[in-house]
Amino acid sequence: MNQNYKTDNEFEEFLESIGGLQNGNKVGDKPILSRDYFSVNNGWLGIIQSLIEVLIKLGWNKKIIQVKEKFGGLRFYVNNLPDNAIFFITESEKKSYNTCEVCGELAEQHKIKGWINTLCENHSVLNDVVEVEGERYAPLLFSKIKNGDLYYDTFNHKIKKCDTDVGFNSWFVKVIKY
Ligand SMILES: [Zn+2]
Repeated sequence: MNQNYKTDNEFEEFLESIGGLQNGNKVGDKPILSRDYFSVNNGWLGIIQSLIEVLIKLGWNKKIIQVKEKFGGLRFYVNNLPDNAIFFITESEKKSYNTCEVCGELAEQHKIKGWINTLCENHSVLNDVVEVEGERYAPLLFSKIKNGDLYYDTFNHKIKKCDTDVGFNSWFVKVIKY
């Protein structure tokens, strides 16, 4: 297993261990401890975790503005940075461009219909409609899978229905019938 992929729970335990991040847009707000704040898939959470660790060592005040995916790359926005910190943010953003958003393995950028995703060979199938047993499904890469949703099991090439609301395995990708 690579170090780039983190489950929601692993990442939230990390956030807990550092006392969360601070909302840079809203002074005095509660610490950010939820994985949902980070608008990226789990393949990049490890990159974000390593970056946060380095920034804290450099003296960062943990005030965050936004973390998201844009044009297939990681964006990590902060206001005040310690000296030399911008280098590490740039390096992490660069790394995201060849790291699969889904699983954290080595990846390439795929441009389909104006959308750019960074996906490994296994997951490049998610750039397009997937066909399973004669039915076609559109992957929704950035949607959380909830109870009752259909999802695509990329390893077994199967469509399944989610029957839980808690601790769902984020290796799977939500789909809708096409
Ligand atoms: Zn992958």
